[in-house]
Amino acid sequence: MLTIEKKPNMKFKMIDCKSCDGEMPELRLTQYGYNFCVSCSESGNKVKVKHGVNIMMGEGDHTWVETVIMDEDQYNNYQKTYNANKPEPTLIEFGIEENGK
Ligand SMILES: [Zn+2]
Repeated sequence: MLTIEKKPNMKFKMIDCKSCDGEMPELRLTQYGYNFCVSCSESGNKVKVKHGVNIMMGEGDHTWVETVIMDEDQYNNYQKTYNANKPEPTLIEFGIEENGK
């Protein structure tokens, strides 16, 4: 059976949470880069959704697909740029040769 050993002598230096009046261990900022506490993280949806976008790289017969991970803001910008530069759909007519005879 797995037991979690408590370390009563382990003291964290506490700093203020940037999002609420609470405190959080300084390690949370210095080690993990979060400037908000655990309860803000759980309740306030501080961690933004990530989006993956498949992008075709290269040209000709040397192409590959890369998945680019973006956060919400980057993704929205990407969508805006993509939609603004999207080429108009063109109609490709098939069977012209047969009809022309
Ligand atoms: Zn907080």
